[in-house]
Amino acid sequence: AAAIIIMLSIFTVLLINVSVNFRRSIKSDIQRGIRNKEFYAYYQPIVNSKNGHWIGAELLVRWLHPKHGVISPAEFIHTAESTGLINAITLHLLERAAYEKTQIQAENNNTYISINVTASMIINPRYVTELISIISKYPSLQHNVVFEFTERETFSSTELAELQLGMQRLREVGIKWALDDFGTGYAGLSTLQSLRFDILKIDRTFVASSVTDAVTHSILDNIAEMGHTLHCTMVAEGVETAEQAEYVDDLEIEASQGYFYAKPMPFDDYLNALSQPAPA
Ligand code: C2E
Ligand code: CA
Ligand code: CA
Ligand code: CA
Repeated sequence: AAAIIIMLSIFTVLLINVSVNFRRSIKSDIQRGIRNKEFYAYYQPIVNSKNGHWIGAELLVRWLHPKHGVISPAEFIHTAESTGLINAITLHLLERAAYEKTQIQAENNNTYISINVTASMIINPRYVTELISIISKYPSLQHNVVFEFTERETFSSTELAELQLGMQRLREVGIKWALDDFGTGYAGLSTLQSLRFDILKIDRTFVASSVTDAVTHSILDNIAEMGHTLHCTMVAEGVETAEQAEYVDDLEIEASQGYFYAKPMPFDDYLNALSQPAPA
């Protein structure tokens, strides 16, 4: 029995080592990727729920890995966020977005771009200063740029005050604010009111089952109601069917995003489609 216990302990130690090394190696791989500028964004159109016209796009990070090809956020965003490396990635994406937005404007197009940030980044005044200095350098970033973040963590009152301050400083250089995955986080009504979001992005779980499930149906109704009360523009996320699109529009949720309209795509494809005449 003692031998078995010893073998099991050795095995456990080995396993822990493998997993620690694995995480450490993702971390250093991300660091290498940042140095080599391997991170860039796909663009997913956000549309007017009434007529399907493109009004903006969300930038979704992708990693063009030299060995593994295009990697989705699910594979690395957790490590990037827990190590703080996401901040460097976001600053890099913002610089790239400045050039891409210039190209969008050159098409005489006023669609907005929406960039994912983390609340922790905005709580940190040094990062807010860095974001502001990039925005100040590029006129293309001074209009029609939205920052969105999810509220997965709860905040202390000090953090909440810093967050409010960071959001305000960025408002002064033209940034609008969206709450991502609305309905799934911890945001109480008072937090919501004090952060004064311009846009609420309704999480796709509520949209997905809205037309098949009576309970979710009424949750979506209530979320839309709350959004109207808060005077926020709303975006329904994850709209996949014509039926869902119809229902979202019936609730007067102004904007929609989802596979039914368009999937995330490389910037060149997005720009190409933007410069085509809109389909009737
Ligand atoms: P998110 O911000 O909620 O982004 C929407 C996700 O839903 C995207 O996945 C998008 O491809 C997917 N999606 C869009 N329409 C549909 C649909 O109709 N049906 C379904 N099933 N999915 C849809 P993606 O690109 O894999 O990104 C996953 C998550 O990674 C994002 O969720 C966001 O939380 C995070 N993320 C992406 N880019 C960044 C970034 O630059 N910074 C940070 N901090 N997080 C990011
Ligand atoms: Ca998002
Ligand atoms: Ca979302
Ligand atoms: Ca309708």
